[in-house]
Amino acid sequence: MVQEKILVIGACGQIGRELTAALRLKFGQQQVLASDIQAQGNLSADMYPYFRLDVTDAAALETLIAEEKITQIYHLAAMLSASGEKNPKKAWDLNMDSLLSVLELSVKYNVKKVFWPSSIAIFGPDSEKISTPQQGVTEPTTVYGISKAAGEYWCKYYFDKFGLDVRSIRYPGLISYTGAPGGGTTDYAVDIFHHAVEDKPFTCFLKEDTVLPMMYMEDAIRATLELMDAPKDKVLVRTAYNLAALSFSPQALTEEIVKLVPDFKVVYAPDFRQQIADSWPGSIDDSAARTDWGWEPAFNLEAMVKDMLLNLKELQEN
Ligand code: NAD
Repeated sequence: MVQEKILVIGACGQIGRELTAALRLKFGQQQVLASDIQAQGNLSADMYPYFRLDVTDAAALETLIAEEKITQIYHLAAMLSASGEKNPKKAWDLNMDSLLSVLELSVKYNVKKVFWPSSIAIFGPDSEKISTPQQGVTEPTTVYGISKAAGEYWCKYYFDKFGLDVRSIRYPGLISYTGAPGGGTTDYAVDIFHHAVEDKPFTCFLKEDTVLPMMYMEDAIRATLELMDAPKDKVLVRTAYNLAALSFSPQALTEEIVKLVPDFKVVYAPDFRQQIADSWPGSIDDSAARTDWGWEPAFNLEAMVKDMLLNLKELQEN
């Protein structure tokens, strides 16, 4: 059996840290090479082996894939929705050029499997709002969403044309206690917990009734590993799979937090991110993922809030 050598690109991010750790548990610490544009100086010991890589440097990426004999790539580096609106051209260049380099080099060096995440940001104001279907109107309104929609078709193109086994998920907003969120429209749902455990009031940048699809990181990591483990012939969607777990508004999340932190207060001051959120679905139909590779979420809102507060309090005390 060939031993896997896995490259994670964007390993220092909100998803990257947790996905790298999960892959190392599964494949072994040395078999998973973490990479990111971030300098090595601030990294904890568990991030090694680590390689500092600017993924837009295609020559450096090629050398790494060739020299390390990479067999699988998880390409997570991207500029997210809110940051992308402040810097559209840079977001497009990073998100698109890096994906095309990864796809091209994966074919050239016979990389066996590639994971690249898409997002609910591919949907737009004319998409169905409730139970948004796998296939339907997309029409993204952010440069981030446009890059994800185009990226999905590039993934399918490389699968159809070159047989590259590239797999993808349209992640909803992800909630985790380890890393800071990276400039997305759903970041409020992480920041709110930090304020709750620090006994500080929270100012929410979305309106109280803005319902968005969300997921606890533990579920998202498991979904990613399950999709990548699925037999090739079960992965029927070669753009990206819809994936769902929770849908809630800032108000519903606050009510759940208040059950455990009774004095917690939230005020609402919507900013430019409200318009992005308004263009996104409220809930997602993920029946294709459930049917094709058996996806099922484990965390409901109550369980997620309990787990987030518990873990953040523990981190605060240590
Ligand atoms: P993040 O912003 O937290 O992490 C991205 C990482 O990429 C950072 O560590 C950053 O340093 C690194 N990076 C940036 N530019 C780079 C470059 N030129 N070369 C190498 N590394 C570079 O993002 P995240 O939340 O971890 O998201 C990871 C992926 O998942 C992205 O593709 C994102 O679009 C997708 N996604 C995330 C969410 C979410 O809620 N977090 C939802 C949907 C999709």
